[in-house]
Amino acid sequence: LRHLCLVFGDQLDQKSNLFANFDAEQDAIWMAEVSDESTQPSSSKQRTVLFLAAMRHFAAWIEQQNWPLIYFALSARQSSFVSALAHTLSEYSVQQIRCVLPGDYRVLQMLQDFCQQNEMALQILPDSHFIAEPGEFSTWAQDRQQLRMEYWYRQLRKRCDILMNNGKPEGGKWNYDADNRKAFGKAGPPKIPMPCDFAEDEIVQQVRQDVAEILPNLAGNLPRFFWPVNRAQALVALEDFIAKRLPTFGDYQDAMWKGEPWLFHSRISMAMNVKLLHPMEVIQAAQYAYRQGQAPLNAAEGFIRQVLGWREYVRGIYWLQREQWTQFNALNNHRDLPQIYWHGETRMNCMRQSLQQVFDYGYGHHIQRLMVTGLYALLAEVEPQQIEAWYLAMYVDAVAWVEVPNTLGMSQFADGGILASKPYIASGSYINRMSNYCSGCAFKPQAASGEKACPFTTLYWHFIYRHQSWLAEHPRLAMQVKHWLNKSESEQQAILQKAEQIFAQQTSQLY
Ligand code: SF4
Repeated sequence: LRHLCLVFGDQLDQKSNLFANFDAEQDAIWMAEVSDESTQPSSSKQRTVLFLAAMRHFAAWIEQQNWPLIYFALSARQSSFVSALAHTLSEYSVQQIRCVLPGDYRVLQMLQDFCQQNEMALQILPDSHFIAEPGEFSTWAQDRQQLRMEYWYRQLRKRCDILMNNGKPEGGKWNYDADNRKAFGKAGPPKIPMPCDFAEDEIVQQVRQDVAEILPNLAGNLPRFFWPVNRAQALVALEDFIAKRLPTFGDYQDAMWKGEPWLFHSRISMAMNVKLLHPMEVIQAAQYAYRQGQAPLNAAEGFIRQVLGWREYVRGIYWLQREQWTQFNALNNHRDLPQIYWHGETRMNCMRQSLQQVFDYGYGHHIQRLMVTGLYALLAEVEPQQIEAWYLAMYVDAVAWVEVPNTLGMSQFADGGILASKPYIASGSYINRMSNYCSGCAFKPQAASGEKACPFTTLYWHFIYRHQSWLAEHPRLAMQVKHWLNKSESEQQAILQKAEQIFAQQTSQLY
């Protein structure tokens, strides 16, 4: 073979650079379902079935092109990429291995080491499935004291001419975030159009069976599987979001509600992250809806900011810091991840709600991730790499380049502020304002001590107390230190004692 062209599970891109000069006479495509990718690091049932089903659909598309394909289906025999690759090299004479840049630095290193040990030529191609050109982010980041998403986003908006009007941002402002923080209030959400639900086809059913047999101990549940697993389904999911939920998405993008896992969110991040949808087609669909008067500017801009701004920004930072992520622990947190993250049995209603939908669907929207499950881990002083491994395992859209910086940087502040300008901390009052989780909860969101103390509120003040020396210098958090210092000594003592009690019991079901 001239080129052995590797396609990883998150690279299911029909327009991949890998196929640009593919020659079916001399080249072959190579794909492998390996159990190590579901166990080390771990991956939930939902996430594993999604990746494997999407891979098998992609393999069917490759076969339709009449391109030679070497495919390892899930089996106990080939448990790692390295063993599957070694097996292929023992059967074929290969001149060069080619692949698009993997989405995980660990996989890149593994591949480079393998090729070096086997004296095999390796060519890594740029991933055309992102909007930033290769090197664009590192050039932008060079010589900047602070890397702030807002300026990167503006650069891409201008270069790609998205929501621009004669060189000015559409509507006169770059950012409509202030309009996008509404809660539902007592009346609850307006009618929520149910997102499209793809029936399990034969491929999904077979994957479900294989996973049950070969990987029976994966975390989470699989009551139903309805994620899009091929390009046609992903396009339907995109169209459904743009038509039915984008118009309301902006207003309520930060709101949460009991028993409502989807609300007005797009549910297409997983389709973008396995490359069934290109981010630019998603952005253009939202821009088109706005220009046709089918979605308000705050909704279109808020959504485009997430895809064009945030998504491209975290990818840039992931690669910039690729060597450091496993070491980052700026807040010196070393407690174990509480067991509630694996069973969800807790009296904290916000956590129970947010965890249960992760177990059942592999999904949570950004505020549930940042301000409930992520916030609790931060306040509970969990070792950041433990909560990072949990996010990677449990969410269907989790791929290292996006999940690692979002968790370790944005959510846990483990990078000390490279990605976010401050730790995202809040008490139970924030959750109470943005959801109805607190009604019916065993705890009271405002209470920081006593029997009914909300663990978020107690641990929030403990966080302020513990980090007060540097928070007092922070322009946006110094006021919170003042509030802590204004509390009476007996109040402070009661909060700190309650915090110690929570830390001591957080591995049990009590909290
Ligand atoms: Fe969560 Fe506290 Fe509200 Fe209970 S009271 S739902 S623990 S924020």
